Amino acid sequence: MSIIELRGVTKSYNGHVQALRGVDLLVEEGELLAIVGPSGSGKSTMLHMIGTLDRPTSGTVRIAGHDVATLSDRELSALRARHLGFVFQQFHLAPGVSALDNVADGLLYTGTPLRARRSRAAAALERVGLGHRLDHRPHQLSGGEQQRVAVARAVVGDPPLLLADEPTGNLDSASGAEVLKILRELHEGGTTIAIITHDNEIADRCPRQVRVRDGEVLT
Ligand code: ADP
Repeated sequence: MSIIELRGVTKSYNGHVQALRGVDLLVEEGELLAIVGPSGSGKSTMLHMIGTLDRPTSGTVRIAGHDVATLSDRELSALRARHLGFVFQQFHLAPGVSALDNVADGLLYTGTPLRARRSRAAAALERVGLGHRLDHRPHQLSGGEQQRVAVARAVVGDPPLLLADEPTGNLDSASGAEVLKILRELHEGGTTIAIITHDNEIADRCPRQVRVRDGEVLT
């Protein structure tokens, strides 16, 4: 079973802007792929479809075998909580909240008790090399460290699929390389990862490239 299956997916905004024009994509469990294309090509829209954050205008989206069209909003939230982690270009950490609690909040909707949330958060921060920064607030961390906290929050619940939208877009090249290394380590640990990027250099360091132009996947 493919973990991501898009068939004939189109997405229009305001009835006319065709952000996606019939996208087919199959991704197997354990892949590390880059979805790469210039600004405006439809990458973020594709991420929204894969992340079940929005529904297609037409076509089919299946995530871990679930046809998104058949699920209620509540069932979609549950699917996201169980199967998906998200990392964005802006780190989206809560200001004034420690790294530990920012990551622990990634488990808020799983019913895990606070103590267990915190101990899993500490383990996730260890995995991204921030075991010594548990009590730091976001403003006390570098950009690269903040993005590593965001990665820890995305994976603290062990989702099988991680979606990263321009994860190095706000980082200098050394911090960006560090974040990519962590993503590669997660991939080696079995997580399926899709990295959205406009940067061919980043894409070329992934085992698979899905190239997007004008709302279509190039073959
Ligand atoms: P990328 O992520 O590759 O930069 P996007 O998926 O953001 O591309 O955008 C693809 C096209 O869809 C662009 O023409 C963009 O202007 C348009 N678009 C994206 N989101 C919206 C929206 N919410 N409303 C209207 N148009 C949008």
